[in-house]
Formats: sequence, structure tokens, C-alpha cells
Amino acid sequence: MAIKKIISYGDETLRKKSKEVSKISKKIQTLVHDLLDTMYAKNGVGLAAPQIGENLRVFVIDVSTNNEPLNPIVFINPKIIKKSGAVNSYEGCLSFPEAYTNVRRYKNVMVKALDIHGKPFVKEATDGCLLARAIQHEFDHLDGILFIDHCRNIEEANKILEEKGLQHVDESRLIQEEELEKEIQENPVELPQDEE
Ligand code: ZN
Repeated sequence: MAIKKIISYGDETLRKKSKEVSKISKKIQTLVHDLLDTMYAKNGVGLAAPQIGENLRVFVIDVSTNNEPLNPIVFINPKIIKKSGAVNSYEGCLSFPEAYTNVRRYKNVMVKALDIHGKPFVKEATDGCLLARAIQHEFDHLDGILFIDHCRNIEEANKILEEKGLQHVDESRLIQEEELEKEIQENPVELPQDEE
């Protein structure tokens, strides 16, 4: 168990597609603990294995607040089995220190994964809650997709990236999300912005 160095935006490791875990070995359990230790040390809501240099399909999330007990959720080989609706999500990422921007996300998701013991579970997160958005953010990391690929406003995203000394949005990686954009504009959902 250790606090690992978080890989920053610009490193190709973040753009690689991660491999499925074939066996919940000691190595995977150590990876999970390292992810949790590193996420808590950096006050993050979630962290995916590629962010600490392991291109494996594993991520962790904890959406508990300061006055609640810790509530880590471990996702190994996750599959998003249902998604619907759309919300604007004001997001950051531990690989992009202090750079936040508005992105499009599904409002509701259902994910199937294995826990740290290899036991399958299903988790549903609705109403654009932090967990729903974090699942999508972390899941993307496993496919080499970054939150800025979902940005709603390139100029806004580039401005903050530039301020933080980070590379601009790679426009060739932007994800086409006309349906989500339309839904966000037609049915705006007010979400608190202070939790990330
Ligand atoms: Zn991230």
C-alpha cells in the first residue's frame, strides 16, 4: 500500500486502452489499495489505474463527504449496462491539477463490475448525482478518454488549461454528443458545484 505519483495530462499512458483483469491476484489487490491511498491523499472523488501507471480496468470511487465515514467502492472490469438522460457536469481530474470545466454526462447509469474479492455487483446511480458522473469519468479513463473530450465549450476548456500550464484540448478526440447537448439545453438540471 502506498501513495503513488499521479500521471499528468500529456502522458500517453492516459490515452491507452486498459486491459481486463484476468484474476484478482495479490498484485491487483495491492493496486486497489494504492489507488485508494492515493485518491484519499489527494482528496479526490475517484481514481483509475492508468492514472498511477497501470493500464488495467480498475477504478475506485468514494463520494462520502468530510463528516461521513469513508465509503470506498472498487470497480474491477466494469461494464456500463444502462445509461440515460443528460446533465452538465462541472468536472476536474487529479491528472489535471485545478483545471475544471463543464462537460456532458449521462444523468443515470447502471454499472456491473467485480469487487476486490472478485464478486460481481451492480450499482445504479441516478439524477446526475456525483456517483453517476464519477462512474462515467473513471470508466472513461480505462478507454483512454479524458473529461475534456466531453467539454461543452472548447474556448472555456482551453482557457483554463492554458492558465494551469496544460496542453489545449485535442479537437480530434472530442466526442460527438449532439443528443446529450440537446437534452442538457432542453432539460437543465441544477447540480451543486461545490462537491468536487
Ligand atoms: Zn480523471
